[in-house]
Amino acid sequence: EAVFTSIDSLIRDNFGEAVVAATRPEPAGKAPQPAEPRAPLAPSAPSGEERPDGELPGLAIAPGFALGPLHHVRRNLPEINPVGITETDAEISRFEKALSDAEAGIRTSLASAGDRISEYDRRIFDAHISYLHDPEITETVEGRIADERICAEAVWSQVVGKLARTYQALDDPLLKARADDVIDVGQRVLQCLTGNKGTAVDGAEPSVLAFDILRPSDVLSLDERTVLGICAGVGGKTSHAAILASALSIPVVLAVGEALADVGEGQQVLRDGAVARVIVAPDAKTILAIARDRKLSQTHVARAEAVRALPAETADGHKVRVAANMASPDELGAIVGSGAQEVGLLRTEFLFMHRDTAPDEEEQYQIYRTIVSGLKGKALTVRTADIGGDKPVPYMDRPPEINPNLGWRGLRYSLDVAPLFETQLAAILRASAHGPVRIMFPLVSTLDEVKAAREQVRATMNGLRARNIPFDESVEVGIMIEVPAAAEMADLLAPEVDFFSIGTNDLTQYVMAADRANAKVQNLFDPFNPAVLRMVDRSIRAAHDAGIWIGMCGAMAGDPVAAPILIGLGLDEFSMTPAGVAEFKLALKGLTLPDCRGLAGEVLELTSAKSVRERSAHFLGG
Ligand code: PEP
Ligand code: MG
Repeated sequence: EAVFTSIDSLIRDNFGEAVVAATRPEPAGKAPQPAEPRAPLAPSAPSGEERPDGELPGLAIAPGFALGPLHHVRRNLPEINPVGITETDAEISRFEKALSDAEAGIRTSLASAGDRISEYDRRIFDAHISYLHDPEITETVEGRIADERICAEAVWSQVVGKLARTYQALDDPLLKARADDVIDVGQRVLQCLTGNKGTAVDGAEPSVLAFDILRPSDVLSLDERTVLGICAGVGGKTSHAAILASALSIPVVLAVGEALADVGEGQQVLRDGAVARVIVAPDAKTILAIARDRKLSQTHVARAEAVRALPAETADGHKVRVAANMASPDELGAIVGSGAQEVGLLRTEFLFMHRDTAPDEEEQYQIYRTIVSGLKGKALTVRTADIGGDKPVPYMDRPPEINPNLGWRGLRYSLDVAPLFETQLAAILRASAHGPVRIMFPLVSTLDEVKAAREQVRATMNGLRARNIPFDESVEVGIMIEVPAAAEMADLLAPEVDFFSIGTNDLTQYVMAADRANAKVQNLFDPFNPAVLRMVDRSIRAAHDAGIWIGMCGAMAGDPVAAPILIGLGLDEFSMTPAGVAEFKLALKGLTLPDCRGLAGEVLELTSAKSVRERSAHFLGG
């Protein structure tokens, strides 16, 4: 359970990389039914942190600056009382009509939202519609209307309330957050049953909207042209409302706490773009200071925007590739618009999480193919499942391990569970018929593993040929360098593959013997440690000696302070969170290859991560 919770938080934190929304350019509610879980999904402030009066710290969902009157969005819900009925058939028909009206309402809102809601985000509402058709829910409601002879509103709100509480009681934060979706759908149906118009989310004048809790339907129905910003008392990054809100072109901050409810209607508030907080009744000095910071950051953002779509090169014309890391198809839109030349790492674990069985070949193929098509010619590097270690999959029959990070994970697991591996390879290869695809193996430790994996690729290709299924015969196959043994033996591994990609997250953990998820050893878990950098250096040299290219897809690749060192060491590709791409390209503009080489040579001789960081920051003029 503990490990499962940590991997979930790892996924929610985008594997330690910045959230996609973080550097998006800044653009010019009676008693609720069904019963709502009220506990905040995320803490409203880091514990122990003191904030001045009038500041409500929260969770940044979409960046930006907003100044204006606060408008509380009150949930306009009727009180539901169980009313006895005599005509049960008519009541069931009324309920069924409400379900189809609710579905029609979702579809109409989606149609009028246009491209404000991406194709992927629309699937959130497919899930809402599926609740309306879920026989377990609808048959329970209809059965109870018939048996208990009480009105549909009362039965529906009890059934949906119970389901929401079941989700809320789960430990898995992602499933827990689904309670909001259930409540959202529940309220929509109640509105249809009662003829209630629902919540009018927009204020009479441009305002910062305050919600008790933001729901997906709220995001769907608001008009961002007339809304200055959004804040909510509770909320978490994993809620569907947060995912939808992060794509809005207005600032959004959630989890600001219960104090939000006490801020007066019409009170002037400021949503600070730099820090996730809402400032109530800001004074002129605060507004000016924040506006000045905003101007500086806008200038910086504008400079980064100007290079987003350009090739990544240093001031003296040394070119590298900048790629994006992807952990779910939901990120496709962000990646396509990020300026990344390709996807350097698709973490495929999302395919296996939060379900009861592994996806079959067809399901995986359809997902890879959708991504490949969406990338429109940009290469997709698919990492085979890195199951185990910090990425457990509960339904896979695996014995408990005392030390999962040193256990049955990554490529060693795939090689042992042949059907799983073959299925994934076949699906990836099939997707390669639709655009450039690479296959990459995680957590490689030995040459024999690489040979066995390549053999499996060949066997899977033969299988596809026998089935007359097309694939790219020249698909590139590479490995991740994330185990010290692989870095040490890189010269022997390189001739066996087409490319390397350094996973500094795991490499650091294994080189430093410091668990990446253990806060107590975070001082050791630092890729700037010269011991890690020497492994990086050795791997780059081995790759180039063997004539193959080498990238990096661990979090270090997107760190502008690491950029001059890695450029100097000769790294060919930097794969990072899409939000970091423009900023990274801008950082390259201040570098020259000979200077970077000099810096790289120097830091390899330093003795600590701290001294390397300081030296590089000094080099960058910090
Ligand atoms: C890494 O280890 O650096 C890496 C990119 O893989 P993950 O973070 O998915 O383990
Ligand atoms: Mg890894």
